[in-house]
Amino acid sequence: MDNVYASKHPLVAHKLTRLRNRNTDPKKFRELVREIAALLAYEATADLLTVPCQIETPLAITAGAELKEKIGLVPILRAGLGMVEGVWELMPTAEVWHIGLYRDEKTLKPVQYYNKLPIEPTVSVCLILDPMLATGGSAVATAEIVKRWGVRKIKFVGLIGAPEGISAMQNAHPDIPLYLAAIDERLNDRGYILPGLGDAGDRQFGTG
Ligand code: URA
Repeated sequence: MDNVYASKHPLVAHKLTRLRNRNTDPKKFRELVREIAALLAYEATADLLTVPCQIETPLAITAGAELKEKIGLVPILRAGLGMVEGVWELMPTAEVWHIGLYRDEKTLKPVQYYNKLPIEPTVSVCLILDPMLATGGSAVATAEIVKRWGVRKIKFVGLIGAPEGISAMQNAHPDIPLYLAAIDERLNDRGYILPGLGDAGDRQFGTG
């Protein structure tokens, strides 16, 4: 699949296995979400641009590199929140812009309920964060919002993708690469990913 990166890193595989386990409690679950998000963000940012600079070590003057691009993290509420801290550890100056969407029961379409993006974009790269790429409805809508905001370089970082959600993103936003810890089999009739990990929001926030 073009533009879809399912991590092959053993640490990701190990942590994802613990995350999927129904016996993992919310505290450990949150820790694992944070850690996997950081590992995936590391892979997702491998092409960030840098500018050369010169610095002085205690011993000599040497050439270095500084990040050129301003990064925005866009967690989709609420489950994406748990991914922010892990990614932030790697890029503490990133801005965080929250997007809230819910699914209308009748139309099944995502409806925006929270979006405080300023008129002009303040970042040049956005990482959209959502653990579960299920139907893809929220991811597609969020990517539209971020594009309308004016950001051109966008990546989606999620933990588990279903083929249905991956296709939806590839059809709507073929320019946005998807970074995932795993690609699962399918959705069930309630829109949950199989085998998945259950409800990523409930399992993080202890509301299940
Ligand atoms: N959202 C979740 O939290 N889990 C799924 O399996 C699908 C969507």
